[in-house]
Amino acid sequence: MSKVLLKWLALLALANSGHCFAQITAAQTNRPAWPPPLSQNHAASERAFNAWKTPQSPRHIIGNIYYVGPGGVSSWLITTPEGNILIDTTFEECVPQICTNIERLGFHVADIKLILNSHAHVDHAGGHAAMKQRTGAKIVASAADAHLMETGGADDFSPFPKDLLAYKPVKPDRIVQDGETVSLGGVTLTAHLTPGHTKGATTWTMPLQVDGKTYQVLFFSSTSIAEPTPLLHNAAYPGIVEDYQATFKKLKTLPCDIFLGPHADQFGLARKLARLDSGASPNPFIDPDGWQKFLATAEQTFLKQLAEEKKAESNH
Ligand code: ZN
Repeated sequence: MSKVLLKWLALLALANSGHCFAQITAAQTNRPAWPPPLSQNHAASERAFNAWKTPQSPRHIIGNIYYVGPGGVSSWLITTPEGNILIDTTFEECVPQICTNIERLGFHVADIKLILNSHAHVDHAGGHAAMKQRTGAKIVASAADAHLMETGGADDFSPFPKDLLAYKPVKPDRIVQDGETVSLGGVTLTAHLTPGHTKGATTWTMPLQVDGKTYQVLFFSSTSIAEPTPLLHNAAYPGIVEDYQATFKKLKTLPCDIFLGPHADQFGLARKLARLDSGASPNPFIDPDGWQKFLATAEQTFLKQLAEEKKAESNH
């Protein structure tokens, strides 16, 4: 067994013991619901973004998966014996805290070899350029989200204030198509294009072995409709309705035992960590029902807006 692998296993065991770093407690994360409602109001959006940046202690989640992001937006570290994978870098200002979190877990920022993305919004890809500069890691993205990254969010169809959406442009090193896989050190992630929230929104899945069982992990992209994005007659995104419909259809077919998402409140991070800390078994992040419920609610939200827009149109 290589020295690197031994060290990795030792660190994994230490992290699993839960005593090597400060813990996230329910009290620490007892904040207003995530994500706070965003509106077109500039000040409110700015306040919401700032709340998401609240520092958060890093945590081991399950297997070789760690939460290293700030309080409101996720950054996932997946460790392998041949280097590590980071899904989402959050905001550029949060990159230093993500790096500190990684080192606090006993891993090295320089070992990040791949940077993946849930979707190319400022709160998930804003730190890509800075993280790439620090690590030399290769950025992987779908074609449509790669385009958005290259424009630093400027080409977004979202009606949000442009200055809030802007981030440092970065050019991805690899484009993934739907169903394509990305592998490193025995870990293989599959890209599932789930457009709607952004045109290149990508949900990632990976099998994970824990205690002799294989679980399917799903890193959800997003399906929320940023207020006040119209679904009908959206000149900036003419295919938005069809894309959302196809995305929900696809998400229902994906295997998911462990549901992880880009915002902590979507998958109950604080609640599940509190249960983990109280010794819950099996690991509370194994939650296929939670994923199905979340998905059903998300689709209802989409269908409700679509029905309301159609009704308003027929009343004219
Ligand atoms: Zn977003």
